[in-house]
Parts: sequence; C-alpha cells; structure tokens
Amino acid sequence: MQSIYKIDLARIGGDGDFPCPKCGTLISPDDETEKVYTIMENIVGEDDCLESILIRCNKCNSTLSLDGFAVLSEEGSSRIEISEPLPESEPKHRTSHNIFLDGRRLGSLTVEFAQGEDVEAFKRLRKLHAGDPFKCTITITTEGAHVENEDFMEIAKTVRRKFKGLKDGDTYIVEIKGGSKSFVGKF
Ligand SMILES: [Zn+2]
Repeated sequence: MQSIYKIDLARIGGDGDFPCPKCGTLISPDDETEKVYTIMENIVGEDDCLESILIRCNKCNSTLSLDGFAVLSEEGSSRIEISEPLPESEPKHRTSHNIFLDGRRLGSLTVEFAQGEDVEAFKRLRKLHAGDPFKCTITITTEGAHVENEDFMEIAKTVRRKFKGLKDGDTYIVEIKGGSKSFVGKF
C-alpha cells in the first residue's frame, strides 16, 4: 500500500509553498493549473469546515494530505477573540471571558451552562442536557467602539463555534453607554 504524506499547513510559513516529501518538487497551494499536482479529494469536517485536501504529486505519484486548514481559517478570518475563562468563572456553571474585536477589548462575555433545574424548566421548549451552554450575554463596555451590525453577526458566529450547543437567539448583546445599559440584539 502506498503511504500518504501528511503536510501540516499551519507549520509552513511564508507563502505556503512546500517540497513534495518524496521527490522534492515544489508544490504551491495557489497553483490551480494541476500541472504539478492534482487535487483528489476535499475532506470536510464538522461545521462544513475544510479539514484537509488530498492531492497527488504528478511527478512521483505520491498522495499528500494537506492538513491544518481549520487552524488557518480560524487565525486568518476571525477578527474576534474570546479569552480563556476569567478567575471569577465557575466551570460548568457560568464562565466569564474578555472579548476582543480586531485586537481591541470590547467588553465581557458570560456563558451560562444548564443545571439540573434548567433542564427541567426548559423541558417543553428544548432538549437541554446538564452542562450544555444555553445562554450567552455579551456586555459591550467600550464606549465608542463602533461595532457594525455585521460585526455582531460575526461575534455571534464565533461564540457559537466556541461554545457548542448555543443556538440562534441564545446570544444577547447589551451595550453600556453613558452609564446605562441598552439592549442591542439577540443573535
Ligand atoms: Zn513528488
């Protein structure tokens, strides 16, 4: 059986070119001509994220698996960063985090995880399991942060990716302006 060479794209710096591990032919992921290599299969994981691409080196016929897209797309496209739980967090109960947009702190984020009584209370509305995140509140405390509507969508998407189990409408965004709290929306 022919072996598959694994290439971790997250470890390749520069413009992403790398030599074929067997024959040394330079492979450039941007090259779409299929002269140097042929794309065999795109492997898509959960959330429709591209996980890896199987390609064949046209010179030596080796199969190469290009991995690390998930890491690349997370780093490359997300403008939102959510910190690790802050010290006041109570794991599996309620965790607090700092949230950043384009490297600037926007405010805080609190995630609530279902407890036994919540599972019971929500039973007719939705199927919850103890420990599932079921509510997220983002409090924007940075005045004049100028958060656009599409930023809110992006924030909500990032939150749902990080806290699996949150659904549409579980993320509340409030803003503190001039000392008073105003409701921005539910995402
Ligand atoms: Zn090769």
